[in-house]
Amino acid sequence: MHRAVTLCLVLAIVSITAVAPAEGRESRTASLLSNEHLNAIVTEASGSRAKDTVIALSTMHRVQASSGFHDAAEYVAARARELGLSEVAIERFPADGKTTFGTFRSYFGWEAESGVLTETGPRARTVADYSTMRVALADYSNDADVTADLVDVGDGLADKDYAGREVKDRLVLAGGNVAGVHREAVEKRGAAGIVSYQQNQPSGWSGDYADNVRWGHLSPYNLQNRFAFMVSLREARELRSRLAGGESIRMRAVVRARMKPSHFEVVTATIPGSDPAAGEILYTCHLCHQKPGANDNASGAATILEDARLLARLIREGKLAQPRRTIRFLWPPEISGTACYLARHPEVASRTRAAIHMDMVGGDFERTKSVFHITRTPASLPSAVNDVAAVFGEHVIGASARFAAGERSVDAYVSPEGSKAQLVGEIAPHSMGSDHDVLQEGSYRIPTVYLNDWPDVFIHTDNDTPANIDSTKLRRVAIVGAATGYVLAAAGPDDAQDIALEVYARGAIRQGEALKRALEFGARGPVTVERFHDARNIVEQAGRIEREALLSILSLTSDSGSAARTIASLVSGVEARTRADVAVVQRYVPIPAAQTSEPAGANLVPKRAPTVVGPMSVYYYDYIEDKLGASPGGDGRIQYEILNLVDGRRSARAIREILAGAYGPVEVETVVEYLRVLEKAGVVRLE
Ligand SMILES: [Zn+2]
Repeated sequence: MHRAVTLCLVLAIVSITAVAPAEGRESRTASLLSNEHLNAIVTEASGSRAKDTVIALSTMHRVQASSGFHDAAEYVAARARELGLSEVAIERFPADGKTTFGTFRSYFGWEAESGVLTETGPRARTVADYSTMRVALADYSNDADVTADLVDVGDGLADKDYAGREVKDRLVLAGGNVAGVHREAVEKRGAAGIVSYQQNQPSGWSGDYADNVRWGHLSPYNLQNRFAFMVSLREARELRSRLAGGESIRMRAVVRARMKPSHFEVVTATIPGSDPAAGEILYTCHLCHQKPGANDNASGAATILEDARLLARLIREGKLAQPRRTIRFLWPPEISGTACYLARHPEVASRTRAAIHMDMVGGDFERTKSVFHITRTPASLPSAVNDVAAVFGEHVIGASARFAAGERSVDAYVSPEGSKAQLVGEIAPHSMGSDHDVLQEGSYRIPTVYLNDWPDVFIHTDNDTPANIDSTKLRRVAIVGAATGYVLAAAGPDDAQDIALEVYARGAIRQGEALKRALEFGARGPVTVERFHDARNIVEQAGRIEREALLSILSLTSDSGSAARTIASLVSGVEARTRADVAVVQRYVPIPAAQTSEPAGANLVPKRAPTVVGPMSVYYYDYIEDKLGASPGGDGRIQYEILNLVDGRRSARAIREILAGAYGPVEVETVVEYLRVLEKAGVVRLE
């Protein structure tokens, strides 16, 4: 139901913003791109080409800092050179367990030659084989030749899983996170190795795809790792039932693999802009992951390559003007590579005005259940980029829906080999989990349009194959990506007004939704000072986000007197709407008489240590755990945002208000507590 409601809303908006058919009139305010330019992008964008790249990348086991990743990097760099992109290079950053990149300490690389798990008795058969399925052997396994009995330890993560079971020198069969099982079974209890049926991320279909074999990994920091083989849920269920029936199962594991110092490799390329002072626009993705890893993330890597191809070609042919800003493309290993690159290129980070990040953008909805998202920036980083991407996202989703419903005259951007179905997609609130977490972190503050599928029933398994990739979807995403990036790269003072009007108009809808949320919140539960305060805070914070999104336009376009005046007048409009909404809350949400006192620490003002650059969590690495010996636990997104909101002026109370306005009730104490942890780790000073 929720989905249907969302799509109706999207369609309603699309009928306003859809680009009018070419009849000499350009609806620039609505579309942000002339019909001529949009048509040029649409005509050039190819889902089939992008899918061919997906197929090629899917043949490589692209584990970070391994020869499989290196092959993929060489492949992309060679393609980028063929396409005539500038400054094509593969940058290398040490992956040696020692070198640090801002807050990130690198881990080791890994090379595997072979890995075979056989049952030697009572049956004789191959259970798992790296030569025919790369995910059969967990990453960061090391050499072994072991024959031992198999013991079922359930999840294998808690003491109770091992009660009454002898696992020393045996193989454990376990369903929990395989790195955690290694700690409990191998490091603490002396097991010889692991047979794992760890499952992929939870979704509504968890447990239904019994033949998925998950891509697993042991700790990339621990050179003493033994090994783990990965099997399907179906295989594990059978083994468990045989063991439960009293059978004793003996297996032999032979592994030829090694962790070793290596390099993270990041492929880079550019399309030069005309004004070196105008900043840059970044396209990014992650090139790593298991073989096949088609949707995650050969799809994103292939689609930004397609955008690079089509933009370079259209600019070369004069069908698009050379953009003011340089457009830069990055193909890094996920999160770690982005952390390395930004830490070593602060000049690129500070020049970058906005980014378009693609991570999983090709899943065929009917097979993968993937809903496509155009994900907004976090509350700590309001930006106009969200609405630029929304214009093209809604245009493409709307056209696909109208075509699917029978309007044959609509160009639905179908690819010859792809589906004709509606693009199931939406504009989504901020969510985490990919390289945009590094780009948007308080150290860099690069507003990022995050294009991503979620869920995907095959994510991180052997079944994430090109057969599940829809070339129509790749083409549609390539259009959204190219149009969004080109508008941002080309935008000058004249475009600032168009973007500002778009943000202002769409902001009215968001402020209206915030008022609705505030009134619902105010009407629910007991009448308390906090409830009244939070209802008002929701509408005030919605106003803050709209004001800052408008002001962000000046850094995305170029400063000029008239753009600044337009934006100033629209900001007053937002402030007037905010005042009107506050008045409604004050009138209709009951105000209690009692006052409460401010908790200790609410007035503390945190200031970030300038030497601590980057996020607290980078892929397999946790900065606070490394510094303090334990991770603080708690809500990762709230903690991420607390640090992002540290600007040397805001108090703990002010940070709390922003979080509560955007993400739902948060206690001031939670903010103060986490700030104290950050202080202990030397990340902030409290004044
Ligand atoms: Zn991914």
